[in-house]
Amino acid sequence: MVEYRYLGNSGLRITEITYGNWVTHGLQVDRDKAIATVHRALDLGITSFDTADVYANTGAEKILGKALKGIPREDLEIFTKVYWPVGNRGPNNAGLSRKHIFDGIHGSLRRLKVDYVDLYQAHRFDYETPLEETMRAFGDIVRQGKAMYIGVSEWTAEQIREGHALAEELGFQLVSNQPQYSALWRVIEDKVVPTCEELGMSQIVWSPMAQGVLSGKYIPGEQPPAGSRATDDKGGANFVKRFMDLETLQAVQRLKPIAAEAGLSMPQMAIAWVLANPNVAAALVGASRPEQLDETVKASAITLDTNTVEAINSALAGVSNQDPQATYSVSPRTRPI
Ligand code: NDP
Repeated sequence: MVEYRYLGNSGLRITEITYGNWVTHGLQVDRDKAIATVHRALDLGITSFDTADVYANTGAEKILGKALKGIPREDLEIFTKVYWPVGNRGPNNAGLSRKHIFDGIHGSLRRLKVDYVDLYQAHRFDYETPLEETMRAFGDIVRQGKAMYIGVSEWTAEQIREGHALAEELGFQLVSNQPQYSALWRVIEDKVVPTCEELGMSQIVWSPMAQGVLSGKYIPGEQPPAGSRATDDKGGANFVKRFMDLETLQAVQRLKPIAAEAGLSMPQMAIAWVLANPNVAAALVGASRPEQLDETVKASAITLDTNTVEAINSALAGVSNQDPQATYSVSPRTRPI
């Protein structure tokens, strides 16, 4: 079964392998397969689920709500997010204003068919709304019992520090950051992770398998396997292309003997690598079909030895991004419409 970790310095325990439904549900994967994959996650012991209002323009939340219907609420940890525009485009239908945050939580609760979410996350930093307004709105949502805890996604170390101080002043818990993190994308290690460790916040990390690339299934110079994200013209191919250059794919192939030596599959090694960072509370994994989760969950409770971690890092040294400045370019400077 999947092991639990505490989310920041809160009392909430989440499965260290959490299932997320970006790109897949409502887009790449049909509804029946999406629901079957959520049910397989539950069968395998995953009880934490990550989604967002913007995934498939609200379609992913709807599918997750349907798939989880009937499961006792106390047996689940549900995370969603607000920031990006959904539905009608309008001047107030994006960002982290008080109005959009309240519209956002109400829509998410309706689609997920729950009374509260466990973690409500700012999907990006909003440069156009005073941070105090944002944090007051989040605090009120916690006080109203619509979310248990608040998190952020892709905020810089300075933004996290400022947000955390306001949350403390306003009397609620900012417990997590949700950044991209994998052996190919290590930009949080230098600044974000030490800041969060100091503040008692966790990372729950996205694309831990670099969108499937670290599984090693994309062979340099060959066509991507049929049905893989790199062939998904509904959005997936566009996102994964950042890791599809020849040099990266060749470097990933160098991991195969390291995985064999460690007695692990490539997907398991990729997930175990992120879980080796003690500030990571969960790897948010994706899956386009149930069998992929059978494979991924085996990474839970695996401890990679130092030699294996070093071998992975050195195999990817030339292609892994470790530049802390990369976090600064993630949140749009003007609110998207
Ligand atoms: P991963 O890096 O885990 O990639 C998942 C994809 O890899 C699957 O959909 C599948 O794609 C492929 N895969 C999975 N298992 C295997 C396997 N055993 N063998 C081969 N291929 C496999 O994570 P995602 O990129 O999907 O992101 C995970 C979650 O992170 C999202 O659902 C979301 O919750 C969160 N996220 C958050 C963001 C944010 O801004 N906060 C941004 C993006 C994601 P396929 O079969 O199609 O090739």
